[in-house]
Amino acid sequence: MRQGAGAASKQRAISMDVGGTFTKVALVDSGGNIVRRWQEPSEHDIASSEVPGFVVRLVRGVLKESSLTASELVGVCVGIPGVIDRRTQTIISCPNLTNWEGMALGQLVEQALGLPTCLEKDANEAALGERWLGAGRGVDDLVCFTLGTGIGTGIIVNGELYRGSTGGAGEIGHIIVDKDGPACSCGNPGCLESFASARAIVGFARDAIEKGSASVLLEVAGGDLDAITTETVFHAARSGDPVAMRITADAIEYLGVSIASVVNVFNPAMIILGGGMAQAGEQILVPVREIVRKRARRLLADHVEIVLARLGNDAGLIGGAYLVFRTQGVAVQE
Ligand SMILES: [Zn+2]
Repeated sequence: MRQGAGAASKQRAISMDVGGTFTKVALVDSGGNIVRRWQEPSEHDIASSEVPGFVVRLVRGVLKESSLTASELVGVCVGIPGVIDRRTQTIISCPNLTNWEGMALGQLVEQALGLPTCLEKDANEAALGERWLGAGRGVDDLVCFTLGTGIGTGIIVNGELYRGSTGGAGEIGHIIVDKDGPACSCGNPGCLESFASARAIVGFARDAIEKGSASVLLEVAGGDLDAITTETVFHAARSGDPVAMRITADAIEYLGVSIASVVNVFNPAMIILGGGMAQAGEQILVPVREIVRKRARRLLADHVEIVLARLGNDAGLIGGAYLVFRTQGVAVQE
């Protein structure tokens, strides 16, 4: 096995995944192993000026608990569920953590820690992680979907992350699939996310029950409307519940035709489906494959593999560390 460049042991980076609810932090080695991990509630209520301090405190905590000094670390990557301007390392939009918006977080954390720090969209990190050690190993052209509360995507072209001119590429969740459709979290009507994200699916299920549709959905959720999740809806669909079957079929169809469009634009060798919703597995995979086969251009459809992600919730943390190693010239173990 190859080791990190010039080191007897593997080199290490800290990767942070800032979610709407929790911030996960991991110490990752250049072999892609998560050596240690931590989790803390994300800070929604602190002033914007305190956000860099929150990140710095977490990193220092990890170093202390791991008995490491900053100089023993290659760098830090902070993964954000939002849009980042790569030119200024600034968070432009982060709907789940609005107090983090406008922060030139990369530079501020780098200055405070004296360590190379990168800021990256979480879905881009997931794509890098899956390509490094997950489903996309050795695949140079792929698009990785993170199907969660929203729909995030990372695009890899010629073995490199495709970022576009400002770093904002890959907003496939905001492809407009119905010009007059329901409002999306971005403010636009009719984005893919407003039809096929977990938030949308759960919303459709609650609406159907409130309108009095005959369904086992409420029963599956233990009688609590607020306890309905995508898992509940997919479970009810598997058991033959017509309301849940219609909701999941619609969501999968919007997802499938959007993936067909993505296949037509990028001609990827692989589409990876990850995120919480992808846990429905074959229930999503089989119909999506079928829709793409029918709706994408034939040559392109014939040469794209559509698969499930392999790294689960760790894809982003592993991909963030990969980015640190690559940026800093550390040879990673492929
Ligand atoms: Zn949108």
